[in-house]
Amino acid sequence: MSFETLSGIVLRYTDYRDNDRILTLLTKERGLVSVTARAVRAKSKSDQGLVKDAYCYGEFVVYERNGIEYVSASSVIEAFYPIREDYDRLVAAAQTANIAHIVADGHSSGELFSLLYHTLSFIAYTETDPHDLVLCFLAKSLSAAGYEPLITRCAGCGKSVLDEHSIAFSNTQGGSLCANCRGGEKTYSPLALELIRRMLILPDYSMHKVRLKKPAGDEIDKLLFSYAEFVLERSVRLKNSARTE
Ligand SMILES: [Zn+2]
Repeated sequence: MSFETLSGIVLRYTDYRDNDRILTLLTKERGLVSVTARAVRAKSKSDQGLVKDAYCYGEFVVYERNGIEYVSASSVIEAFYPIREDYDRLVAAAQTANIAHIVADGHSSGELFSLLYHTLSFIAYTETDPHDLVLCFLAKSLSAAGYEPLITRCAGCGKSVLDEHSIAFSNTQGGSLCANCRGGEKTYSPLALELIRRMLILPDYSMHKVRLKKPAGDEIDKLLFSYAEFVLERSVRLKNSARTE
């Protein structure tokens, strides 16, 4: 039997049999991986330190048997504990993990792991609005998956859209459209587009600097979720995850 060590963040889990749990991990090494952790739900002193909860980052020693990967041992690297003590942080972490799961399903990369790690860290340990961090994660993860939207130039003719009063955004063409090229697409303020452009170039370690005030923040929320659901061909937004103030 051969063992492999994976560094992974738990995106979700499903309880199985009496005490087992199937963990869906985003790993540094292999992207999305499902592993079965035996007896993690039994209450015993020896299970302390095992990684079994959502949004925990840990190291997992795994082996394969009959096509199923099992956890032989695990240890917590970072539990992001404050996420579990605050409703808004918890909702943001759930939304972030859901996006990571959908994006990683087919477009996995080390870039996505770093993005997820930084986003959960900032959700847990900074006062940055958790939903602003979700939107920054969404923009950057789409970019990591090859769907970076064209912001400053028209996706139709290539002309700069920086001097336009309102900018249309086309999900099908993957970017802004100038006044000549637009049809009936929804339009957004230049500020909303500019903020998305800045989020896309922000290094992962600076994501906590993101501040999306109303009304541009609401526009960004609508634009990014609508674009994500179009390119990923799936519902991305969780029911209770929306801008509230
Ligand atoms: Zn144009």
